[in-house]
Amino acid sequence: MSTKRNHPETIALHGGDYRSDPATNAVAVPIYRTTSYLFKDTDQAANLFALKEFGNIYTRIMNPTNDVLEKRVAALEGGLACLTVASGQTASTFAILNVAQSGDNIVSSTDLYGGTVALFTHTLKKLGIEVRYADPADPKNFEKAIDDKTRAFYAETLPNPYLRVFPIQEVADIGKKYNIPLIVDNTAAPVICKPIEHGAAVVVHSLTKYIAGHGTVVGGSIVDGGNFDWTADPKRQPLFNEPDASYGGAVWGKVVPELTGANVAFAVRARVTLLRDIGAALSPDNAFGVIQGLETVALRMKQHCSNAEKVVEFLKNHDEVTKVIYPTEHDKNIADRAEKYLKGGKGGLVGIELKGGLDAGKKFIDSLKLLYHVANIGDARSLAIHPASTTHSQLTPEEQLKAGVTPGYVRLAIGIEHVDDIIEDIEQALNKSSKGTLKAVS
Ligand code: PLP
Repeated sequence: MSTKRNHPETIALHGGDYRSDPATNAVAVPIYRTTSYLFKDTDQAANLFALKEFGNIYTRIMNPTNDVLEKRVAALEGGLACLTVASGQTASTFAILNVAQSGDNIVSSTDLYGGTVALFTHTLKKLGIEVRYADPADPKNFEKAIDDKTRAFYAETLPNPYLRVFPIQEVADIGKKYNIPLIVDNTAAPVICKPIEHGAAVVVHSLTKYIAGHGTVVGGSIVDGGNFDWTADPKRQPLFNEPDASYGGAVWGKVVPELTGANVAFAVRARVTLLRDIGAALSPDNAFGVIQGLETVALRMKQHCSNAEKVVEFLKNHDEVTKVIYPTEHDKNIADRAEKYLKGGKGGLVGIELKGGLDAGKKFIDSLKLLYHVANIGDARSLAIHPASTTHSQLTPEEQLKAGVTPGYVRLAIGIEHVDDIIEDIEQALNKSSKGTLKAVS
């Protein structure tokens, strides 16, 4: 695609080298509902399996509908290649399993989605992968946690509930000194942040959220930034430098650039080993659903962000709200990160703490009429949830507090409705949650 067209609004509609369906000229991306693909002959089949030629073999590993989505998400993030998978959880899991094995560790930010904490604390531990936590308030905490078994850094761009923007470049720079890649979950900030431009090596998304955007599809993606040298320190990245017995002894860090001419070893390894073996593929029907949402993601993000900013101003002036949590509402050091990393808006997520604590939080949620009470973010509709009793309920009370979930915390995922209607609903629910009164807005 011409660099002149390298705008997210245009990439979302035209990215991925897709103009029309080669077989039918259909403009919309068709759903290729097929499990398998006819080989031209036995030589071609052998070449495909040996990765001497790239092409379709079996839909668990690749599909033409998914391929268009993958190319568009890669282009949107400024990466070189992408793999779509069944969910955001699969994306995070694969991103870690692609670099770490039993006995290894990763260093992760403490600010994480609750499901990721559960994955890291329990499932990865059972697989023998240790997750060490570093408070991103000071990027140096990542450096302190490294040892010779550290395979990756992991973080979220805009993690709730704290909504402290992650210091991407600062931590990526530490990683570069030790040949440790930074994996960033950019679920909450597509379009407004491009972590690869700041040095991240891998970007994962829950496509379920803003990218699909309509609360209709579950999916995930892993973008390979193409900017990390997997062979620079063979001891640091054994999975890319030692022969893989599961694939004829392939040394992924060497063989992929040789075969493709591109630094996409991370994406290729994840596809041909993890997706092959674990099989958590995104169905082409769901890939189609995500593509429909992706087409308008840039437009929606603008509206999510501008609505959220107005909601924040309203909430700051409401007596029942003791604290408003938003990327810009932190001390200067942290708020400056929002300015540095989030462009064109500061996201659609807003946190509030209510004067009345737990009871007020529950009453607020139960009083909402327009906002939906659901466990999701990034829907075109406005959503609200009380994390202590839902998304973060599988964490211990100590883990909840560490994650920033106080009993009276309510998370709002501001949608794209008219902002006056969103504010009206929040206001009536706040007033019902106690006897709240509105201060004069100056
Ligand atoms: N990452 C973040 C930041 C999320 O908010 C979520 C889900 O809420 C996930 C990952 C997991 O995504 P999925 O629900 O698509 O598995």
